[in-house]
Amino acid sequence: LRHALARGELQLYYQPMVCVRDGRVRTVEALLRWNSPVLGWVSPAEFIPVAEESELIVAIGDWVLETACRQVRHWQDTGLPPVRVAVNVSAHQLASGRLPERVREVLERTGIDPGQLEIELTESAMMTDSEHSARQVETISRMGVSISLDDFGTGYSSLAYLSRFALTKLKIDRSFVDGLARDPKSSIIVDATLGLARGLGLRVVAEGVETEEQRALLAAAGCDALQGYLFSPPVAPAALGALINRFAPAERYAIPRVVSIGA
Ligand code: C2E
Ligand code: CA
Ligand code: CA
Repeated sequence: LRHALARGELQLYYQPMVCVRDGRVRTVEALLRWNSPVLGWVSPAEFIPVAEESELIVAIGDWVLETACRQVRHWQDTGLPPVRVAVNVSAHQLASGRLPERVREVLERTGIDPGQLEIELTESAMMTDSEHSARQVETISRMGVSISLDDFGTGYSSLAYLSRFALTKLKIDRSFVDGLARDPKSSIIVDATLGLARGLGLRVVAEGVETEEQRALLAAAGCDALQGYLFSPPVAPAALGALINRFAPAERYAIPRVVSIGA
């Protein structure tokens, strides 16, 4: 893993969040992939915890942030409709105290609008020195970057974080989505989360949507956006144009043409 970064073995894939209101894709989540010549494809669920223990996650996290923003810039330059990227940030990156500076540098270097970047944080990332973390998040949010609370409901859910941190979005963890059709308790938790989020002015995304039944229940409950295999798995960056088109069939994005004025 220490060499993976330098050897170019890491890649980002992108999974769409589909807007419930109009079915469009405006945000995609960047998800790490490691194709190791020795181990083959390694799941981030396996190597991220290792990277976190060794603090390699700070260097990897920097690379993810830079690569995702450069990708957004590239999509924009090739004429795709504006898309926002959500980047996962781990506890160490937040604790390092360098995140706001890194975000500012990357935004400047790539020239993307701060509104095109979203940072996904888990409750456990916020827990480590929460006063310090809250200040970092506040600084990033003031730049115009959105902050999303990931895996909501699975951590040590201290509801205090909801008011202490400058959040824009909550992501309902897929364990609740998974239980929706079977377990009445899951739907009560989803409803309560939506009520809480609405009251606090937060948008809600449900993760891990795999079935039509889950889609219908979550849309009826009032989620703003949905993410999951039902819509698309994470895809390689080159596949994003086709993906966005699939979710906006009425207005395919125009390939920019050179028009000579006054000719
Ligand atoms: P996460 O942030 O909760 O990401 C969502 C995970 O759910 C992704 O797993 C995604 O591929 C998977 N997923 C999406 N739709 C469905 C679905 O319908 N059903 C099911 N069962 N799963 C679905 P992935 O890509 O394996 O990533 C696992 C975790 O690794 C992520 O969970 C995140 O915590 C971490 N991770 C991935 N990339 C990064 C990164 O760049 N930085 C950091 N710090 N963590 C990352
Ligand atoms: Ca995430
Ligand atoms: Ca998640």
